[in-house]
Amino acid sequence: MNKTSATETAIKTDLHEILDIRHLTDSTFVLRIDKKDMSFTAGQHICVGPPNGIHTREYSVYSAEKDPYLEILVKEVENGLVSPVLKNLQVGGYVIVEEPVGYFGINNESCETQKHVFIASGTGISPFHSFVKSKPGLDYTLLHGVKTGNEAYEKNEYEKGRIVTCTSREGTGDFYGRVTDYLKLNRFGKGAHYYLCGNCNMIHDVYDILEEQGVSTENIHAEVYF
Ligand SMILES: Cc1cc2nc3c(=O)[nH]c(=O)nc-3n(C[C@H](O)[C@H](O)[C@H](O)COP(=O)(O)OP(=O)(O)OC[C@H]3O[C@@H](n4cnc5c(N)ncnc54)[C@H](O)[C@@H]3O)c2cc1C
Repeated sequence: MNKTSATETAIKTDLHEILDIRHLTDSTFVLRIDKKDMSFTAGQHICVGPPNGIHTREYSVYSAEKDPYLEILVKEVENGLVSPVLKNLQVGGYVIVEEPVGYFGINNESCETQKHVFIASGTGISPFHSFVKSKPGLDYTLLHGVKTGNEAYEKNEYEKGRIVTCTSREGTGDFYGRVTDYLKLNRFGKGAHYYLCGNCNMIHDVYDILEEQGVSTENIHAEVYF
C-alpha cells in the first residue's frame, strides 16, 4: 500500500498505524499501534490483520487500559496465515483492528481484596500484563509456562516475587517444570481466583488439578487461544 492510499484509508476507523515493533525473541514481538479513540477493558482481545488481507486473528490486548496506544504480544506461528505477515510489517504501516471484545476480566469491586493466581502458557501472559499494568495494587501471583527462559517475555515489568517462570525444556527459569508441576507442589487455596490463558491442553490440565484441590469452578476463569 503506498503512502497516499494508506493515509486516505487510515480515515476509516478500522485501520490503525503501527507505531513501534519490539522483537522479544526470534519469533515473538510486541506490536504497538495507534489507539485512536478505542477503549477496552483489561482482558479483552481485538482482531488484527494485515491492511490488504481479508483475514484477521484474535489477540489479547497487552497494554494497559489508560496507555495512549494499543499493544499486542504476538508469536509467529510457522506456516500460519496471519502471524508471519504481522511480523513482517513495518513501523508507519497499518493494520486492520476490530472492536475489543470478550469477557475475560477481573472483578473491579473485589480486585483489591482478592488473591489472583494468573496461569499462562506462552503469549497467554498478554492479558495478565494488561491486568497488572491497568490495576496497580493488585494482589497476584503469575505462573508463566514456557519452554526456555528467553521466552519470559518482559519479566522485569512485574513486581519481583510475583512472577514464576516455569521452564519445561531447561532449567533457565525460576522453576524447572511445567506450570502444572508447580501447582501440584504449591497450593494457593480455595479462596483465590484463578485465571488460565493459553493453549487448551494446559488449561484442561490446570482445571483438573484445581478441581482436585477443591477449588470451586466459580473461581476458575479461562481464555483458550488454540
Ligand atoms: C481469544 C484469543 C486471544 C488470542 N490472543 C493471542 C495473543 O495475545 N498472542 C498470540 O500470539 N496469539 C493469540 N491468539 C492466537 C491467534 O489468534 C492466532 O491463532 C495465532 O496468531 C495463529 O494465527 P495464524 O493465522 O498465524 O495461524 P493459522 O493459520 O490460523 O493457524 C495455524 C495453526 O497454529 C495453531 N496455533 C495458534 N496459535 C499458536 C501458538 N501460539 N503456538 C502454536 N500453535 C498455534 C492454530 O491452532 C492452528 O492450528 C489468541 C486466540 C484467541 C482465540
